[in-house]
This record gives sequence, C-alpha cells and structure tokens, in this order.
Amino acid sequence: LVIIISFSVLSRNPQIIPSSGSFPNPHNYHHTIKPHQKISSLSRINSPHLISKLRAYERHHKRCQPHSQSFNQTIHQLLTNKNNSNSNPAAAAACNYIVYTPVNGLGNRMLSLASAFLYALLTNRTLLVNFGPDMTDLFREPFPNSTWLLPKQDSTRVFDDATTLHFRDAHNYIHYLLYLPYRCRNYEKFFFRDENQKRIESVPWLILHSDQYFLPYLFLMPCFRPELDRLFPNRETVFHQLGRYLFSPSHQAWGFISTFYETFLSKADERIGIQIRVFNDSRGKSTPLVMKHVLSCIRKQGILNRTGNRAVLVASLSGDFYKELKVNAAGVGVYQASQEESQRLGDASHNMKAWVDMYLLSMCDVLLTSAWSTFGYVAHGLGGVKPWILQIPDIGGAGDGGEAECRRAVSAEPCFHNPPDFDCPEGFVSPVVRCEDVGKGMKLV
Ligand code: GDP
Repeated sequence: LVIIISFSVLSRNPQIIPSSGSFPNPHNYHHTIKPHQKISSLSRINSPHLISKLRAYERHHKRCQPHSQSFNQTIHQLLTNKNNSNSNPAAAAACNYIVYTPVNGLGNRMLSLASAFLYALLTNRTLLVNFGPDMTDLFREPFPNSTWLLPKQDSTRVFDDATTLHFRDAHNYIHYLLYLPYRCRNYEKFFFRDENQKRIESVPWLILHSDQYFLPYLFLMPCFRPELDRLFPNRETVFHQLGRYLFSPSHQAWGFISTFYETFLSKADERIGIQIRVFNDSRGKSTPLVMKHVLSCIRKQGILNRTGNRAVLVASLSGDFYKELKVNAAGVGVYQASQEESQRLGDASHNMKAWVDMYLLSMCDVLLTSAWSTFGYVAHGLGGVKPWILQIPDIGGAGDGGEAECRRAVSAEPCFHNPPDFDCPEGFVSPVVRCEDVGKGMKLV
C-alpha cells in the first residue's frame, strides 16, 4: 500500500519557508503536537543525579543571571581588572561565568554550546551566551525564570572583542580566553589538563570561542570522570539528554516545525530523514556522484524497502537531491522544507531554516546523515537515532571517487572532530572510540 502525502502542496511550492524575512505568523498555526513529542526509550533522562544537578543549576543560574547583584559585581571586577577573591570573602561568594561566543554554522554552535553547558555544570559556572541578532529567536530560554543571554550594554562590549583579553596563564586572572576552534592542532592542551583546571577554577570569567563538540574529552579528565559517571550511566545519550534540555524551539521555530510535520510527515508510519551535506562544491559538480551514493546506500540498507506508509524528508542546501529522490523513490512522499543553495553566516532567517531542518530530521525514525557534518550530528543526537552515515570519497572531485561507505553509527553521539592527543594509560577502559566518519575524531561510547 502506497500513500502519497500531500504531494501536490510541496510540488507547487517546495520552499514552504520563504527565503527572506517574511515568515508566516506563527499564531496562525495549530499546535497539536508538542516539541519533544517523539521521545524514544533512549531519550528519558535516566539518572536521578542528572535531574537533581539540573535543578540545582537552575537555582544557581537564577541567582547569578545577568543584572543580578552577583553578575553586576563580577562584571565590575572585570572592568576594573581586579580579582578580589583572595582578599574579600564576599567577592569569593560571587558567581563565576562561562561566556559562549558562537563560531561557524549552527550545528557546530549547538554542539560546542552543549559542551560548554556540561562544563558549566561540572565547574559550578553560570553559562551565558553572547548571541548576535542571527541567533536570538531560535531557542526558548532554557532555564526557568531567568535568562542566559549576555546583555548588550557598555560593560559587556568587552566580550565582543575578546582577543584583547587573551591570557594563557590563568593564575590570578579575572578572565581567561578559551579558543577552541577547528583546525587548531593540539590546541588548548592547557585547558584539557587536570592540573590547569585547578588554576582556571578561580578565574571569574571564562570566555569560550568554539565550534567543537569537545565534551567527550571531559570524560578523559580524571578530575571530572567520577562525577560524569554518576551523571551519565549511559554515555551514548549525553548529547541527546543535554541537547533536549537546552535546545527547545522558540515559538516561531515551533510554528514552522509543527506545520511542516503535521502537513507532510505526521501521517506516515515511518519517517526517513536524508541529510545531504556536500562540502567544497559550490558549483554542484559532484551532485550526480553524491546522488549515486545516496541511492546506493538506500538500496543496500533496504531503507525504502519495508512495507507501510513512508515519508522521506530531504535536508540539503540544494534542491537537486530532492528532485532526484522524487523521481527515484516512486510512490513515496518526498519533502523538503527549505532550499537555501548556499551557506550564509550572520543571517537570522537562514539559521531559522537550518534549525527547522535539524529538528524535523530529529523527529524521523530512520536517518541517513552525511559524514563530517555537525548539522547531521545535531539531528541524530537530538533524535536519539543511530544514523546510517554516508561517507562519500573524493567529494568535490571529478572522478567517481570509488565505492561510498554507508555504515551504521555505533551510537547517536556526535563526534569531536579535533581532539588533542590522548595517551591511553595501560589497563584504562576508554569511554571514547574513534568516530566512524572522522579518523582522528573521538566519540563517547
Ligand atoms: P556542517 O558545516 O555540516 O558541520 O554544519 P553547520 O550547521 O555547522 O554549518 C552548515 C550551515 O549551512 C548550517 O548551519 C546552515 O546554515 C547551512 N546548511 C547546511 N545544510 C543545510 C540544510 O540541509 N538545510 C538548511 N536549511 N541549511 C543548511
């Protein structure tokens, strides 16, 4: 039995989200499904210790949030460049912060932000986000009755140009700039060493610039490991649990998600998400090759062979794959929520579409995601789904690149692309393995 779901609606207008600013009014939507409705057995927070840690963090955040007495006092210390914590016990009771500054695309940002949050939980810091206008309406405030947004005021301008605050030696400093972007080889060994964590502990402001999911490495640090084992008896769901807690779609985002989901996906017995991310190929030269590999993976793994009513959601910058899949997956509803053509930084409506796509993918039952893509990691991580990872050799090249690999991930956890070297002590049972798609990367198991 084959049912084609509202196919004509999408064929007439594949881009249901308009390409610039003029979004439909979210108040017109019927909110019959709730965010996080599709909760698999993986997704429940299964550690009472994590729940009580989160509740304690919420109280702490409320006390230390922007404009609180502690916040004003600590910002004053930063501006006057005086760390009173040794001489003034009242100041020592004030709050310590980690200020997250986004780097790179939305997937990268969400992964590094989740890492920063876990670090904040472990070190008793308050997590604040230094979002620009392109990020402000994507998520709901995660912590009840408080804000995580760093206020835009004269005293916080200093965070916008944090390079002026660069210190390597954290001892007795008021702030420490932690720069953890991709392609910085063996970067920040300082940060990932236990003995240096002791020194960073007393620094009130930790300013983090990162696009990396550095969270797995925290499990390799003896100072954090006992607490992490208590918080996460199941390491395969760390991002799933933290991500669902932190990233809840805003009212506007939820309007787009729920409308699309109800119109095209809700009636299917099985939803299949296909995320196609092609790097370094702005002209689409490799589209036929990539398509060939996507179809071969679908066939080999029997992804469309099962009986029942299925819907395919395609997420890609390009519309070419959607068109091809419509032709190749005859009798199955194929849908795409946006076709942005190219990646853009600093654009709120572009980021909104990316978030909608990631969230819709996370609501799918089966996922095929692209190797190396943090966009795909967020989708399968939030969904708690072990994806088929499509690894296409020779991307962007002219040849056919040989046989593409398409294998099942060991877990729904994202990959830390660029970890510092780690010498595994003898007899140590490692909490991480090499990633399926990135040879030098590591992921939790
Ligand atoms: P990565 O580069 O694949 O690791 O993922 P990132 O999310 O960090 O950066 C890619 C950016 O390109 C996204 O944040 C989006 O802005 C855009 N993008 C890439 N793929 C898609 C897609 O399938 N849909 C949408 N809407 N945007 C995409």
